[in-house]
Order: sequence, then structure tokens, then C-alpha cells
Amino acid sequence: MSSAELPAPGSTDRTRVRRFPDNARFDRELLHSILDDGLLAYVAVTDDEGQPYILPTAYARDGDRILFHGSTGSRLFRRLADGERTCLTVTHVDGLVLARSAFESSMNYRSVMVLGTCTALEGDDKAFALKVISDHLLPGRWEDIRQPSKKEDAATIVLALTLTEVSIKVSAGDPDDAEEDVDRPIWAGQVPITESFGTPIPDEKGAAFPVPAYVQGWTR
Ligand SMILES: Cc1cc2nc3c(=O)[nH]c(=O)nc-3n(C[C@H](O)[C@H](O)[C@H](O)COP(=O)(O)OP(=O)(O)OC[C@H]3O[C@@H](n4cnc5c(N)ncnc54)[C@H](O)[C@@H]3O)c2cc1C
Repeated sequence: MSSAELPAPGSTDRTRVRRFPDNARFDRELLHSILDDGLLAYVAVTDDEGQPYILPTAYARDGDRILFHGSTGSRLFRRLADGERTCLTVTHVDGLVLARSAFESSMNYRSVMVLGTCTALEGDDKAFALKVISDHLLPGRWEDIRQPSKKEDAATIVLALTLTEVSIKVSAGDPDDAEEDVDRPIWAGQVPITESFGTPIPDEKGAAFPVPAYVQGWTR
């Protein structure tokens, strides 16, 4: 299904942002860019007693689906593969918002929530998805490393979650202090938070080789 055929973000009853609706966004390009900026998603699933769990999981976006992988040994991944309903979020904390009151102190963020059920991928689509995930997390690495063996492939579940029912919430800007607080003699404003790669550290045998150019080029 093409992007144009999918419901706009935030347009279904379940995904309409009600709390601070001014922070809702409806743009699929923005949805894609928030997802592309992230490395980590939180995937919710319940066990057979209804206990919810949230799995932090590496992911990548491929068009209008999110791809992620886990172990066939994971009961929770197996439940997702069996079509258990899920909710996946990706969040960037862009800064602390220091207001003049505790009540108005908050965070600036970009946040995406996806509702739906996953599809377990097999064959060529599964192999392709693993490369897409690697290319997103570690661009250039896939071509350098040993490819998955049959045994490793059999031990891996690869899931796709379509971006059908999604919402976007973005909070940005200065604190929104109440009128009676704005003249208080207190510093207020924003403290930006950024994510960055550190200097690569080789392991014992890796030290014999130069750091690949694609690793040196990784920035965020
Ligand atoms: C980094 C960060 C920190 C936050 N800290 C707090 C906090 O301390 N306290 C607090 O109350 N809230 C916080 N929020 C906001 C919180 O995520 C919820 O949006 C808020 O609590 C309202 O939830 P609700 O279910 O009442 O919203 P509703 O507006 O009723 O939710 C309706 C629909 O809106 C969508 N939606 C709701 N929240 C989000 C979201 N964050 N991202 C994408 N779609 C969304 C979902 O589709 C949901 O089904 C934070 C958000 C982020 C990203």
C-alpha cells in the first residue's frame, strides 16, 4: 500500500491526540523523518496472562513499515510473530524545558506511536529486512561482515509493522509559564539534549586494523 492510501497520522479515533492537541502532527514526511532519526523503539506486548511488557528494540524504517528482529527463543517475540496486538513508540528527547514552576517544567520531544499487529517475514523479504536494519543502524557495515548462517537465520524472527495507524506528537519551544509566574526572579529556558557517537574503541584483535572510513563517518 502506498503512503497516499494510508490514513493520515492522528486521523483515526484511536490515534487522535486529545491531550495537548496542538502538539499533534499529521505529516507523513515528518513521521518518516522522526523514525529515521531513531535507533531504538519500544514495543509493547502482553503475555498470556495479560501482563504488559515493553521491549526496547533496534529497528529501521522501510517505506511505510517498521522492521525489527528478535530471537525465536523469546516468548514475547513469538507472540508478536503470532499476531498479538502491539503498540510501538519511538521518542527523541530534544531538551529539558525549565519553567518557573514545577507544574510547567517539561521536555521538548518528537514522538511517534504506532498501533497494529506485526507480520513475520520469511525468505528473501526476511534477508532484505535484516540488511535494511543493519544499514540503518550501522551504514556500510553489512557488506563487511559475515552474513547470517542458516542456523542463525532459523534463530531469528524478523517482524514488520505497517505504519497504518500512527500518531505524532511534537513539543518544542520555550516554557509556557503562567502569567503570574513570568516575572519571578528565576532563570528559565531550554537545555537542548543531543545524541552523538563517541570515538570508536577497537577490541583486542580489531586494533590490528584501521577503523573503516564508514565507521569514522558515523555522526548523529
Ligand atoms: C519525552 C516525553 C516525556 C513526556 N513526559 C510526560 C509526563 O511527564 N507526564 C505526562 O502526563 N505526559 C508526558 N508526556 C506525554 C505523554 O506521552 C502523553 O502524550 C500524555 O500523557 C497524554 O496521554 P493520553 O493517553 O492522555 O493522551 P491522549 O491525547 O488521550 O491520547 C490519544 C492518542 O494520542 C496519541 N498519543 C498520545 N501521546 C502520544 C505521544 N507521546 N506520541 C505520539 N502519539 C501520542 C496516541 O495515538 C493516543 O492513543 C511525555 C511525552 C514524551 C515524548
